[in-house]
Amino acid sequence: MNRASSQGIGMTSMRTRERLVERLMDRGIRDYDVLQAIRQTPRHLFVDEALAHRAYEDTALPIGFSQTLSQPYIVARMTELLLAGGPLRKVLEVGTGSGYQTAILAQLVEHVYSVERIKPLQQKAKRRLSQLKLYNAIFKNSDGGMGWSREGPFDGILSAAAPATIPPELLQQLAPGGRLLMPVGESGRQELVMVIRNGDCFEQEIIEPVNFVPFLTGTVR
Ligand code: SAH
Repeated sequence: MNRASSQGIGMTSMRTRERLVERLMDRGIRDYDVLQAIRQTPRHLFVDEALAHRAYEDTALPIGFSQTLSQPYIVARMTELLLAGGPLRKVLEVGTGSGYQTAILAQLVEHVYSVERIKPLQQKAKRRLSQLKLYNAIFKNSDGGMGWSREGPFDGILSAAAPATIPPELLQQLAPGGRLLMPVGESGRQELVMVIRNGDCFEQEIIEPVNFVPFLTGTVR
């Protein structure tokens, strides 16, 4: 590829990224740092090349193993709500998937601990994060239902897969004042739920209807 055409691609991708950011603002995303992280993150690197031209649409995209890269709007919304209580030191992410949400979080919090049950997906995600020089995320191939007790408690917990009910281990690993964001419920009837820990009391708020892949048990190697 010559220089002019590679610059051309750069320009197009900058324009399409900016359009995505505008769309997220139209949909009510306000947090400047979140919008800036989305603007700076090359989402096309998180999907197969054949889908790269759709990477800046506000839509979920397939990543193999019947899983999806979450829709940018929902990534932005969950991240914005997670951050709304103040700066975060340690965040647990359940469901690394492509690593896109991990990359957004890594730019906004001190440390990301990301668990994923499907090992090959996580290996690709790890490579993408180091390609982007985001070194403050660490990964574990495990069932996120158990959290990551050795590294907890966490100031924030975010899940990209929907269980029928919130796993109690995750609530236990939430630090005082910490926030958990998670889709809950069966396919077709899921809601995004935010839990804020206040001492031993867990205040729960329903944010909006969502559509995530199911939270499954066990690991795939
Ligand atoms: N944020 C990711 C979303 C991927 S889809 C992205 O944007 O790419 C949700 C992911 O959760 C899938 O990769 C799925 O394998 C994973 N998952 C489902 N149940 C899980 C569990 N119990 N523990 C860990 N990961 C889980």
